[in-house]
Formats: sequence, C-alpha cells, structure tokens
Amino acid sequence: MKPLLLLLAVPLPPQSLEALGPRIEEREIDTPYGPVGPLARRGLPDSASIWIQPYYGLPSRTDPRATLSAAQALGIDQIVACDSVVAVNPVLGPGHPLLITDYIDFTRHQPQTFFEREGTAGLSQAPAVCPRLTDALARILPAAPGGVYLGVDGPRRETAAEARMFRAWGADVLGQNLVPEIALARELGLCFAGLAVVDAISAERPAPPDTADDYSGLEVVVQALSAFLQSLREDSACDCGGRLTRTLPAGRAGPEDQPARPPRA
Ligand SMILES: [Zn+2]
Repeated sequence: MKPLLLLLAVPLPPQSLEALGPRIEEREIDTPYGPVGPLARRGLPDSASIWIQPYYGLPSRTDPRATLSAAQALGIDQIVACDSVVAVNPVLGPGHPLLITDYIDFTRHQPQTFFEREGTAGLSQAPAVCPRLTDALARILPAAPGGVYLGVDGPRRETAAEARMFRAWGADVLGQNLVPEIALARELGLCFAGLAVVDAISAERPAPPDTADDYSGLEVVVQALSAFLQSLREDSACDCGGRLTRTLPAGRAGPEDQPARPPRA
C-alpha cells in the first residue's frame, strides 16, 4: 500500500510512536519552497506505512507549501494531521479528541495557494476534508465529535473577545498548524483528514486544573492512528479532492469550467 503522511503537531513522547511500527527509513526532501524533514517512515506488516513530519512549534514552518511539495515528492496522496488545539466550544475539555469536519481560515500571513503567480483558477467544489478518511477515523474514535477548526497565525493566544467571536462564527477549536495546509492539500488533489486534541480552554473561560504533563489524551491518539492505519485496505486515494487542473488569466473564469477530478493512480 502507498504510505500516508502524518503531520504531527501534538507533543507526543517519541517512544509512543513505536505503536505505529518500527522506523523503516528517514528522508530529507528539498522542495522549491525550502527543505522538509527529516521525515521518518514507520509501519507494521500488512498495513499502510506512514511518513511522520513533526509539526509542533516548528520554526521552519515558514512556507506550508514545502510540506505539501514534499508529500508529492514522496508519492503520498493521503494526509492525516493531528493538532493540539484551543477549545472555544464549551462542551470540550482538555484531552478531548475532535474530528475536523470543516474549517475557517483566519490566517493572514500564510501563502494560500500554489497558483498565486499564475492567476486565478477554477477550483471544483470539494468537501473541506476527505469524507472517506474522516469516516475511517470516526470508526476508530466513535466518541470523538466532529467539529469546525479555525486556523490562526499565532504565536499569541486569542483574546477573550476573539474567542467569543470565533465561537459565534461556528468554530469549535482554534489551531495554528492545519491551515492553510488543508487547503493546499486539496489544491493538489490530496485526501486530507484532521484530528484535534484539546490542549487548552479558550481565553473567555476559566482555566481548568493544570494538565501540562498529562499525555493520556495523546496516547489515545497514537493508539487510534495505529488502528486507523490497519483499517485502511484500499490502495489509493479517493477522488474527493478539488485538484486544480489548469489555470486561467487573472480575473477570468471561463464558462467552460468543469469540476476537476484528480487523475487515478
Ligand atoms: Zn479522499
């Protein structure tokens, strides 16, 4: 089976990754947007292997396009991202997992597209995340609710007023690591699913007792990812994405635009 890519933006103890199988290889990838890696590939016999890119507080996260370009270079067409998030939905508490079903982009300093120099282009209507991968995660984590992820730049935390605004917009959690990666992945026609683990409660709510050293919620995530990999039986991505197949001059969207489908592997 083709390997997946895991963008790991949760502070897991390194030994917990053993649950995903032994380390098979390690690579560094040069991309037009900068170097990526080292990425390590892990896997167990009879299940998909997974390239792991640590993504937590990465100082080199200057251009998210590098990450997606590296995924392409590795022949990856399925990405799962795990992020530590701030809960703005009051039913969520520290350690709670959440499956990302949609997102809001509130980033302001990130490249938003691979095609910005080539003018506008028609994107087909595609779901925000891959329904197949998200359903597979939901079967492994039946108690995890689905929710809306709002991407912010950081590094500062949200103010209480912003937390109220984000909640009013329909956001459930805030994070700094999945946007615009999620949109860039869809631009390339890659399947993308997101899993969030609540690390903190938003600024408008009283702080819970300190759980800084409690990895219990995160251990659940590693076990879930291991089961998730073993549950994947199909050898290729689905055609859920909205790959950009061509570009048009700026400001012109032709009436002949048709929904684009990624080529089958
Ligand atoms: Zn898909």
